Amino acid sequence: MEIDQNTNTSIITFSRNIFIPVTNICRNNCAYCGFKRSTDDKQAYIMKPDEVENILHQGKDYGCTEALFTFGERPQEDPEYLKRLRVIGYGHTLDYLMDLCHMAIKKGLLPHCNPGVMTYEELAYLKPVNASMGLMLETTATIDAHANSPGKVPKIRIETIENAGKLHIPFTTGLLVGIGESRDDRIESLQIIAKLHQRYGHIQEAIIQNFTPKPGTKMAKHPPSPIEEMIITVEQAREILPDDVAVQVPPNLVSPEILITHGATDMGGISPLTIDYINPEHEWPTVEQLRKKIGNNAVLRERLPIYPQFIKKGYFSEEIKELIYKLADGDGYRA
Ligand code: SF4
Repeated sequence: MEIDQNTNTSIITFSRNIFIPVTNICRNNCAYCGFKRSTDDKQAYIMKPDEVENILHQGKDYGCTEALFTFGERPQEDPEYLKRLRVIGYGHTLDYLMDLCHMAIKKGLLPHCNPGVMTYEELAYLKPVNASMGLMLETTATIDAHANSPGKVPKIRIETIENAGKLHIPFTTGLLVGIGESRDDRIESLQIIAKLHQRYGHIQEAIIQNFTPKPGTKMAKHPPSPIEEMIITVEQAREILPDDVAVQVPPNLVSPEILITHGATDMGGISPLTIDYINPEHEWPTVEQLRKKIGNNAVLRERLPIYPQFIKKGYFSEEIKELIYKLADGDGYRA
């Protein structure tokens, strides 16, 4: 945990982002997901370039630094998705994503892409245009909620995180708490994240996210993850993960005050402009609300989607170097 020298209290970080859900079409069928749509559903979509550009433009005006691009996983496995993608001028999702990242950089925002499991080559392709990337491990356990989700096989997800490490990509991962895994499973998941970081030094944060049931899903009646489990998991994360890996909790899904006292140090991306499309019923707090919640026990500081230690280590490409230096202060936080 970093200490603020002026107040001698701990530093809690957040990033000011815009959330861009490029498509909700996904090959997986996670039992708790209220986001994914199949192409035969009227609500299935791919955002068009001008829609994305409009959000980026507004995000810049709101002082955001992070463009968070999320996807359903490997939507290109659905031929109908590919047809729709061709209509907007692209043959492959990652080529489209590459152009959207360039658009974000041009507007002065740093991309953080979250397109699901990826190969080494796909990660290498996207690396130059990303300040950081992410993939939730969720759990190393084999659970019913993932029975029809080929991308949720733990081994495949671990491979993606490991390949990001080989490529020196600052990386976000984490656990989804309360989806059918046991406490021991969580310990095992955290130990794997810790090992990957010890080997490659690339994990900047581990999200400890509580399951919240979504209406209309198979797990709509499954109980939400209780605060006691979150406290235990945050404590385990702080104990198992190396000190330089931040423990992040989502302040729109769980009250962060108590979790900070148990080891949480980061609040993730919060947006003054866009909603949390994965959990649309849970509003982001404003920065002021967050500051009040945290009180006098800690100092809230804004960071970029790349953490200060990775700026110091030079874990970024020439393409985004100038923008990072423009947005960061001398300590690597938001200028
Ligand atoms: S949780 Fe993610 S991977 Fe699973 S179905 Fe939903 S969008 Fe797809």
